[in-house]
Amino acid sequence: MISFHVTLVLCASFGLGGTRIVIDPGHGGSDPGAMGNGLVEKDLNLDVAVRLRDLLVADDEDPNGGGSWEVVMTRTSDVDLSLQARVDIANNWPADRFLSIHHNAFSSPAANGTETYSFAEGTFSADLRDKVQEELVASLGLADRGPKTANFFVLRETTMPAILSEGGFVTSPIDAAVLANPAMRQAAAEAHLFGLQRHHGIRPYLPFPDPEGYCSAKLNSGNCLPQIGWQGAPSASWGITLTCSQVTGATPGLLFWSHQPNDVPFSGGRLCLSAPFVRTPIVNSGGVPGPNCSGFLQRDLGSSYLAANGLGPGSVFYAQWWHRDPHLAVDPIGLSAGLRVVVQP
Ligand SMILES: [Zn+2]
Repeated sequence: MISFHVTLVLCASFGLGGTRIVIDPGHGGSDPGAMGNGLVEKDLNLDVAVRLRDLLVADDEDPNGGGSWEVVMTRTSDVDLSLQARVDIANNWPADRFLSIHHNAFSSPAANGTETYSFAEGTFSADLRDKVQEELVASLGLADRGPKTANFFVLRETTMPAILSEGGFVTSPIDAAVLANPAMRQAAAEAHLFGLQRHHGIRPYLPFPDPEGYCSAKLNSGNCLPQIGWQGAPSASWGITLTCSQVTGATPGLLFWSHQPNDVPFSGGRLCLSAPFVRTPIVNSGGVPGPNCSGFLQRDLGSSYLAANGLGPGSVFYAQWWHRDPHLAVDPIGLSAGLRVVVQP
């Protein structure tokens, strides 16, 4: 049963040409993994893994940026799979990288946060581990427990660089509230994508299955149009806080900006972003869950951030908020209008 499943998955993916990635959703079938706060680890692992696979496929197919990937999952449904079978899938292909996706648990609900493992330090595995950990912390906003090493079977027995991420603790009420949100699990998948891209020397790039939709501001499911705004003066000495109101409920958002107007055409109060742009870490809107307009995104670009990005007095940059509306069944990518910012002394 297991070998049939494996053969099927491998055959479907041969011959595409790209960095070979195996995604391993931990546990499954009769092994639920960690459980707490109504969450079951095997289900969380598979959900994030499927989202990551879909992102890698979209990134591979996106002509505007990103990387070239081939993807195989060790399991795509709720089935039993031994650790040896998972390793065999990666070693027999052979894969270039192996990412095992897990979530944590502890006897005390006080334990919380994100951690990512490799087998040893000073390796390609450790480099990928560090970058995925950084991106996960930036995306989920949970406590940073840091990169670690461990003698885990799937890290020790795989013959290619391998990591194992523990996005958060299902036993922590803090982490569980985040992990229960599908939009945040998408953010976790994006963090793995960005970590993989950076590990392979590619600037973090979010592929968009609908480039047309990416270029227009859209009503969200609460029938409100997100509005970009700002607080404070856009000055080199104080920085600026860019905001986005009227965002759907509790959704994550990203602020994109670019130095070059040609890369960010501005017309009619709308922006159409294309590379190169700078992506800031994901923030959560903190709104009331549901198809309403209670969400409010905020990103502080302080004076040191402006200076580090070459934005001095007189500099112009072009910014746009992006957020996802999970209540729209079709094309859930939503955008705010954009903003042209002139930095004052
Ligand atoms: Zn696990």
